[in-house]
Amino acid sequence: MTHPSLSRRHLLQLAAASASALWLPRSAWSQPRIGSNPFTLGVASGSPLHDSVVLWTRLLPADINSLGTEPVTVRWELAHDEQFKRVAHSGQAQATAQLGHSAHVEVGGLEPDRWYFYRFMLGGSNDGVGNDWVSPTGRTRTLPAPDAPASSLRLAYASCQRWEHGHYSAWRHMQAEQLDLVLFLGDYIYEYAGAQNAVRPVTGGFTVSLADYRARYALHKSDAALQGAHAMCPWLVTWDDHEVQNDYATLQAGTGGPEVADFAARRDAAYQAYYEHMPLRASVLTRALQSTVSGSEMRIYNQVRFGKLANLYLLDNRQYRDPPVCTQGGKLGSSTVKVEDCKAWSDPARSQLGMVQERWLDDAFSRADTSKNAGWNVLGQQSLLGRRDFETGPGTTMWNDGWDGYSAARNRLTGSMQKNRLSNAVVLGGDVHENWVGHVKTDYDKPGSESVGVEFCGTSITSRAFPGGHEKIPEYLAENPHFVFADAKAKGYGVAHFTPDKLTTTLRAVSDVNRQDASIQTLAKFEVKAGLSLVEIA
Ligand code: FE
Ligand code: CA
Repeated sequence: MTHPSLSRRHLLQLAAASASALWLPRSAWSQPRIGSNPFTLGVASGSPLHDSVVLWTRLLPADINSLGTEPVTVRWELAHDEQFKRVAHSGQAQATAQLGHSAHVEVGGLEPDRWYFYRFMLGGSNDGVGNDWVSPTGRTRTLPAPDAPASSLRLAYASCQRWEHGHYSAWRHMQAEQLDLVLFLGDYIYEYAGAQNAVRPVTGGFTVSLADYRARYALHKSDAALQGAHAMCPWLVTWDDHEVQNDYATLQAGTGGPEVADFAARRDAAYQAYYEHMPLRASVLTRALQSTVSGSEMRIYNQVRFGKLANLYLLDNRQYRDPPVCTQGGKLGSSTVKVEDCKAWSDPARSQLGMVQERWLDDAFSRADTSKNAGWNVLGQQSLLGRRDFETGPGTTMWNDGWDGYSAARNRLTGSMQKNRLSNAVVLGGDVHENWVGHVKTDYDKPGSESVGVEFCGTSITSRAFPGGHEKIPEYLAENPHFVFADAKAKGYGVAHFTPDKLTTTLRAVSDVNRQDASIQTLAKFEVKAGLSLVEIA
């Protein structure tokens, strides 16, 4: 399959249509009578630029049949104030059954560097007087203009929110962090049918079909704390493997759950459900039309600029990767690997981002400002970048699914950072369910090699770390001296506060992931002065 399928084209048309506010003539509006609240999944905003932002909701009343089969017209308002007295923009969007009754509104023409409030409305309630259903109110913002100075950016990075592994108190506490942005770095859902010692049950079994994935997203988005986190500020999102299947690579299936005859179809369904539930632009789909990548691409990697203060690069290291090599027992999926016994380990032909995305990133780096007052270059990506050798002493044992398993590609990435003199590079990641903080090295095998950035990875919102890891942390830190801090116990998120002179990163940890009423505390705090001197300050 080298071209998008017809159904994919149809999907693109639907997405473009529902994102453009003025698509259907008034006579075509459909306003079914909805007997119960259709806004049960809350609202979200995301993919912000200096002049536009995406507003999102998905209609899911208790009686889904009451939505009918025709496109449903949802009205929306974006205002300067929380009471919606000064409405800046308003319009309609179509929520179609084919896209799970999701609505994506791309509001343009906004003022840069400004906060707004938004809400959705749907007519036809059964209260006898025809009052509208009104969604919760969301708060969103535009970014500073690309060439404008900006004095402060506060973002949270978070990942891995396995439902059955805990409660979302992290999302509740995050709402007090006064954030400009949330960077979500993958594993928004997990495809599993459940877990041992589950804190709360998932509904449905393994997710395979479009209906399965939709139901799993709906389950997550039923959580009030997560809804609140979406409503507080815009999100930038990327995915990892579990939005489709554990350890999948491009169009090669991973492991766990039923074997599916047509993995490409499963991935299509999963990607569509992802689009339906995230505040993404229709262009993530339409760019695929120009693509020569096989399968139905969803182009979510992207670069956005927060004024002169920061370039944000959002990467996708799952959709285009070569499969992991030397997995134990010759199986699909991942494992630790004795590197000395694996010939293909550092094969330069293998890529994690895919060669197209690698070139795109190298090109973006080459155009980044390198002047004395250049801002921060922030990479939001899925996994731990730094080398993690689990074997004390001369031998080397590493995990083959992370960057370690793509060491030549990692050298190209850090080589590009070095070659382009990328200023103040900060790598943010997830995936490992543990906190790791360290220096990004041009050659991880040589502790004296140049540092070209700093890294803050993890932890997870809820997902469990591998058992037994915490006791070994001192050993791992000694073996991998580019790291300055690690913790395998805490669940939570990180807050990165960028100013022109320094970055302050605070690792935030919930007291008990098993409790909805968990408290929050600071696990550790770091300062990175522009020029990349990294110190722990608390
Ligand atoms: Fe995860
Ligand atoms: Ca070793």
